[in-house]
Amino acid sequence: MEYTRGLFLGEDAAVLETDVTIVGAGAAGLMCASTAGNRGRRVLLLDHANKAGKKILMSGGGRCNFTNLYTEPAHFLSHNPHFCKSALARYTQWDFIEQVNRHGIAYHEKKLGQLFCDHKASDILAMLLDECTRAGVDLRLNTGIERIDKREGGYRLTTHAGLVDCTSLVIATGGLSIPTLGASGFGYQVAQQFGHSLLPTRAGLVPFTITDQLKAMCTELSGTAVEDCQVSCNGQSFRENILFTHRGLSGPAILQISSYWQPGDRLEIDLLPHLDVPLWLRTQQGERPNAELKTLLGELFTRKMANLLAEHWFVSKPMKHYAAAELDAIAERLTAWQVLPSGTEGYRTAEVTLGGVDTREVSSKTMESQKSPGLYFIGEVLDVTGHLGGFNFQWAWASGYAAGQCV
Ligand SMILES: Cc1cc2nc3c(=O)[nH]c(=O)nc-3n(C[C@H](O)[C@H](O)[C@H](O)COP(=O)(O)OP(=O)(O)OC[C@H]3O[C@@H](n4cnc5c(N)ncnc54)[C@H](O)[C@@H]3O)c2cc1C
Repeated sequence: MEYTRGLFLGEDAAVLETDVTIVGAGAAGLMCASTAGNRGRRVLLLDHANKAGKKILMSGGGRCNFTNLYTEPAHFLSHNPHFCKSALARYTQWDFIEQVNRHGIAYHEKKLGQLFCDHKASDILAMLLDECTRAGVDLRLNTGIERIDKREGGYRLTTHAGLVDCTSLVIATGGLSIPTLGASGFGYQVAQQFGHSLLPTRAGLVPFTITDQLKAMCTELSGTAVEDCQVSCNGQSFRENILFTHRGLSGPAILQISSYWQPGDRLEIDLLPHLDVPLWLRTQQGERPNAELKTLLGELFTRKMANLLAEHWFVSKPMKHYAAAELDAIAERLTAWQVLPSGTEGYRTAEVTLGGVDTREVSSKTMESQKSPGLYFIGEVLDVTGHLGGFNFQWAWASGYAAGQCV
């Protein structure tokens, strides 16, 4: 047998024979590849992009929020909420942190258990690639897949670089967000080809667009953040900052709630969750009767925002001229602001894709298809989506590891 770049050519010299072929060299694919390689499996890792792990490089504003200290199943959305539990328990945030420590990568907790690299996201990618090299993984970029056929004991892939046979085929092609970073619907097509059901996909962790009368205010306030807000929709609430943009609303609290939002839903935003606003207004009226409302709001928000709120929402006058009912209405507006987004910015800017391959047809222990033995799905292509804060990478590491242990 001829030996080529770590893999054996079979009886038919035109076919590359592997134990495991992984399609998608992103977070999940890289983790799965090194895990399987370390078990002595002959692993081929294919990607159609010219670089592995492009999303890792872009993540966390270039510093990669690679995991979260408080990872637990409650931080994930899925039609099958129990599915993620087994993999998350068997490869935890502590396991990934141990690997990061072993590679001497400096990191810090930014807030809420979110761990970021001190230097660059490329530290994490370099670590994963190093682990793959040590495990003997054969990584081939710029390699698209034309077709996949099931054959005796495995699968045959027709790729742009030739034919590949494998016993185990792992689909790690991610979701639809940010097509310019290599995203494609390939994983969903493969799932359907082998009889899997798909759950409707939509953009998650994504800014909202606003087109009603609020648009003018958003545009004027573009770039302004409100540090501590509570945003609620469909029984879920997130407390973090929000950011006004030219197109609408963004910031962590908005991105989080976007994963729970459906077209037509209203958001309720408490701009001052840390304050008893009715009490504060009454106290101000008693202590500073001649102060104008917009002056007082300027002590809670930026001056520009206070002026705009006074202009768009309230008639600003000295506090002593407000009746009790008017103060109640002001408090209501500030603490239960109703916003009707016209939509989201979509996959162009979304961090994740909700929905995808239905996990009820996949083993939660091994990530193996229950429809087609030897076929595996890992990472974001599955209907498992994390909250903002490092949870999506932790899912990629955990599901990649789970499959890597048994492919
Ligand atoms: C801008 C941005 C910032 C983010 N920041 C964070 C963060 O800080 N923390 C966090 O936890 N999550 C973050 N995420 C989410 C996180 O990046 C994803 O959840 C994670 O990368 C999913 O891993 P994956 O391996 O399943 O898919 P991906 O990482 O998307 O990898 C899929 C791979 O498959 C390849 N591929 C696709 N189609 C084909 C095909 N047809 N043939 C061959 N190869 C193909 C792609 O080129 C890609 O390399 C961010 C996402 C974005 C877009």
